[in-house]
Order: sequence, then C-alpha cells, then structure tokens
Amino acid sequence: MIYTDTRDKNVAVNFKTAVMNGMNMVTGGLYIPTEYPKLNTDFINRVPEHSFREVAFEMARPYMDGEISDSDLESIIQDAYPFTAQVVPVDPVTYIIELFHGPTCAFKDFGARFMARMMSYFNRGENDNLHILVATSGDTGSAVGSAFHNVQGIDVTILFPDGKISPLQEKQLSTFDGNVRALKVKGTFDDCQKLVKTAFTDKDLRNKFRLSSANSINISRLLPQSFYYMYAATVAKNRSPHDSKIENPSIIAIVPSGNFGNLTSGLIAKKMGAPIEGFVAATNSNHTVPDWIATGNYTPRPSVATFSNAMDVGAPSNYERITSMYTLEQVRELFASYWTDDAGTIKAIDNCHEKTGYIIDPHGAIAWKAWNDIRHGAMQKLANGESFDYNKPGLTPNLPTWANKVIQKKAIGLVLETAHPSKFGSIVEKACGREPVMPDRLEKVLSLPDKAVPINNDYEDFKQWLVSNL
Ligand SMILES: *Cc1c(COP(=O)(O)O)cnc(C)c1O
Repeated sequence: MIYTDTRDKNVAVNFKTAVMNGMNMVTGGLYIPTEYPKLNTDFINRVPEHSFREVAFEMARPYMDGEISDSDLESIIQDAYPFTAQVVPVDPVTYIIELFHGPTCAFKDFGARFMARMMSYFNRGENDNLHILVATSGDTGSAVGSAFHNVQGIDVTILFPDGKISPLQEKQLSTFDGNVRALKVKGTFDDCQKLVKTAFTDKDLRNKFRLSSANSINISRLLPQSFYYMYAATVAKNRSPHDSKIENPSIIAIVPSGNFGNLTSGLIAKKMGAPIEGFVAATNSNHTVPDWIATGNYTPRPSVATFSNAMDVGAPSNYERITSMYTLEQVRELFASYWTDDAGTIKAIDNCHEKTGYIIDPHGAIAWKAWNDIRHGAMQKLANGESFDYNKPGLTPNLPTWANKVIQKKAIGLVLETAHPSKFGSIVEKACGREPVMPDRLEKVLSLPDKAVPINNDYEDFKQWLVSNL
C-alpha cells in the first residue's frame, strides 16, 4: 500500500515510513492510504459472521502488503487482541458496542496495541532502543504505556500534568515497571506537550537517542479501529432480523467523538464495505465539528472541561483526514451530528439506565442520547422543517440521506461505548444511583505503588532526566 499526505498528494511512502514517522514533518500533514480495498462480499455476508480476529486480519492485510507477511500479521493480531468488541443488544433496535474489554478499559487499547506491535516489528534488528515520548491528559497515556509494556527494543516515557488527571488515571499511568516510566510535571497538559515537542526538535538529544511519538494521528492507531466497526456491523446485521423484525435495516453508527479518530476509522470501515449506512458524530460542549456541519465554517477553539473529558477537544486533529476523504456535502449526506452539555450527559446516563438497565459511561451516554433523541422525534421534526439552533444542545440542523430510514423506523443503531463506566464511577453513581462494578484489572492497579517521578515544568530539567535515564 502506498500512503500519501493530507497536504501534499505527491507524497508517496510505504507503511513502515508512515508508522515510524507518525506524521509528515516536512508538510505537517497526516498520512492516509491511497486506497481502501473492499473486502469480498462473501466474507462480509457470511452467516455466522467471522470472528473479530478474522475480520482484523482480512482488513489489515492490504495496508501492509509486501511489508509484513501473512503469518507475521496473524501472530501480531493474536498477540494484540486477546479481547474483542462485545455487541450487546439493549432494545430491539439498539446495540451497545462495548470497546472497553482491553487492559486499560477504554477503546484506545484497540489502536495502541496494534501500533505498538507494528513499531516493534519495524524496529527489529536495530541495536539501540527506540524511545517513545508521550504527553497525556488522561486515557492515551495508559493505553500507550500498557500497549508497549514489555515490548522489546522500545521504551516509553509518559508526561502528565500533576494533579490534573483523575487519581485512577494517575495510577494507570504510574504503576508500570521496566520499560514504561511516568513523569508528573508541575504544569498543564499543554506544558507537557511543549516539553515533548521541544525534545523532538532538540538536535543534541536526537543525536544521542532515537526518539519517536505515539500520537493518536498515527495511521497504525487508526486502521485497527476500523476492525470493530466491520465486526460489529456484521454481528448486528445477522442478529437484527430476529431482534428488530425489520427486514434489511439501515445500520447507523453513533460515535462519541473528541479528536475524531474513532469516527474516521468508521469511515475507513465503510469504504471497505462495512454494512453501515451512516454515522452520528456525537460530542459534548466542544462542538466544533457539529458547528462545521451546520454552518460550513470550521472554527477550532480552546477546549472546555466536561464530564466526558476524553472528548474535550476544540481543534480535532482528524478533521484534516475527514476532509481529505470527503467533501462537506458528502459529510452532510453521511453524518448526522449532535451535542449535549454536562446536564444532558447526566440525564442520558440516568435515562439509559432507567430504560434499558444498562450502566453507561459519560462518553457512551452522549452517543446513546443522540440515538434515542434522533429516533424518538428529533429527526422527524427536522424533516418537517422545524428550526434547530446549532448553538443549543441537541441534533444539529442537517438531514443526512438516511434520515427517512430512521423516521420510518427502518434503522438500527450501533452505540459505541468507549470506556468502562467504573472509570467514571462517581459521575455515573451521581447520575443513576448505581455504582458500576470495577473490573479486576482496574482494581488491581489501585493497589500498586505509584512510581511517577515529579519534575519541574522546565526543559533543561526534563532533558537532564532523559540523558541520565534513557
Ligand atoms: C479518546 C476517547 C474518546 C474520543 O475518541 P476520538 O477518537 O478522539 O474521537 C471518546 N471516549 C473515550 C472514553 C476516549 O478515551
């Protein structure tokens, strides 16, 4: 597969280069594949559907063709995914797609574990370690740390803002041993990011060490997220005639979004033939993308803090990928968009629990609420010409091509649940009166010693630490 760049279509690199560089330092653009090969329809339509790992293998293959052999890819997938996405029906037309069964209980495990194995594969034969530096405001650090933990030839240094992430998140970052270390910086997330960026441009440091990033813009984090869309859509397609009694329903994926990496992965799955007709971009008070869909103007802004903090992104980095794959008009045909505030999020958690018995986290809750509102009248009102204000919480004034399918009750929804609710236990309990049970793998982390090393928000101190510890 040849990869090009969102900013310069003359760029042509192989998979290894796209993975190891992360982004194109020359143009500042993001790597994208030049094609999205469709899976065989017999494969997609098989009853019973293929397993998650079989889907992963078929989908990954063309993107690394000639660079990674089938047998190596098969072992990588086995090793990356001892867990799967779970498709949970909560009412006849709604499936919750649980993406939190990985080690850190958030969907980022799907991308991070694949990326770690790709980097390790391409790093083999090197004499010196590859040093990954990553700044995190929460979930990314633990997914990346866990994914690279004990991976040979690579070590990871995670920087996080002291006192600005949740105690559980801090534990998840700071309790690794061996090749994953955490630094708690007396500063903000932006300060952490600045320290990392300065290190990458420090020639002296780069001459001493091989440095790399594990950013969410890396194509090897995005591709594997498309696997679970394909898998979940095939499961839902086979189940829904029994569950919903609708013949050939349209499948709509509702995606709680921050940087829009997850949604971009859904677009890749659709291009590869996943039976998904449309998407709902669901966000919190950081509604840059819904505003863009409503008005046509893309206006990035500073982020605001919400209960669904992994979606607190005012300038989503994958906007650039979406617009290189689709025009605004095509996006409007394909996407509905929806946002809600913290009050709406609390109501959504409560409402979801009351109606279905399912305990949902604040991120998934926004997606659930979007689907629930859309199919219970909001789309109908919009189609009737009622005016919707995009500055207010709710459905954004845009009718996708599949709107009528929802109005005529011929659609089913895949609600992506991106984190385990116990990661946000106190919010969930406050909202619905039920405290989610913490999985053993999270519980265990709480009893481990916190090994984070405190450092000042000072580049020379940071550099000194790297020089003495890498
Ligand atoms: C990162 C994250 C998101 C947002 O995903 P994007 O790919 O950035 O849109 C949503 N929910 C949870 C729990 C996350 O950790």
